[in-house]
Amino acid sequence: MRRAGKVVAEMHAATREIAKPGVLTAELDAAAREVLRRRGAKSNFLNYRGFPGVICASPNDMVVHGIPGEYVLREGDILSIDCGAIVEGYHGDAAFTMAIGAVPASTSRLLEVTEKSLWAGIAELRPGNRLHEVGRAVQNVAEAAGFSVIREYVGHAIGTAMHEEPQVPNYWPGTAGPVLKSGMVFAVEPMVNAGAPGTRLLDDGWSVVTQDGSLSAHFEHTIAVTDDGPEVLTLP
Ligand code: MG
Ligand code: MG
Repeated sequence: MRRAGKVVAEMHAATREIAKPGVLTAELDAAAREVLRRRGAKSNFLNYRGFPGVICASPNDMVVHGIPGEYVLREGDILSIDCGAIVEGYHGDAAFTMAIGAVPASTSRLLEVTEKSLWAGIAELRPGNRLHEVGRAVQNVAEAAGFSVIREYVGHAIGTAMHEEPQVPNYWPGTAGPVLKSGMVFAVEPMVNAGAPGTRLLDDGWSVVTQDGSLSAHFEHTIAVTDDGPEVLTLP
C-alpha cells in the first residue's frame, strides 16, 4: 500500500504541474495514465462501474466524480483531482483541490480550510481511538470556518479493494464507531462546500455538484493506523 500510495502522489504531481488555463481535463487524465504506465500500476478508477477515466476532474461547484474530457480550465477556476492506483493488488486513493491561476482570497480560504480539516481528521487515526472522531474533527474545522460538510459522500476503509467497510463520515454521525487498531487503513476525504451542504447528480450519472452552485473543495489521503500514529501513504 505504501508503493501504491507513492504512485498516487506521483499522479497528483504530474496533473498539478500541467493544470493551467487553456488545458483540457482530458490532458490531465493522459498525464496520470502515463504515470501508471511508467510505474507498472493499474487504475482503480478506470472502468469502476464504467467510469471512463483514471482521474476524476471536478471544477468549481462540482464536488466529486467529474469525468475528464473537453472541459477547458480557465483562470480563476478551482479544480479537484481525485485518483488512485493498484500495485500488486493493493490500493491507494487520494485527492486535492487547486486554484487555476489567481482566485479570490475567500476561495483560497475554502481550499486551505478543507485541507486543514483533512489533517485534523488524520490526527484522530490512532490505535484505541474511535473511528467517528475523524468525522467530528473534520466537521469542527470546516464549520468553525463557516463552511459546510457534505453528508452524501464519505471516506472509506481501503486495502485489496478501493472501497471497503467501514465508511468514514466527515461529520459526527451520532455514534463513536469502531475502535481503531494498528494495521487498519482508511481513505479520509472531506468534501467541503462554501455554501449549503446539499448535492445534486448531473445527467451524465457521475458528476456531483453543489445544490446551491457554491464552490466545493475535496482533499483525501490514504492513511495507515500504526502504533506510532497515523502514517500517510499518499504523500510524495
Ligand atoms: Mg479518491
Ligand atoms: Mg476515496
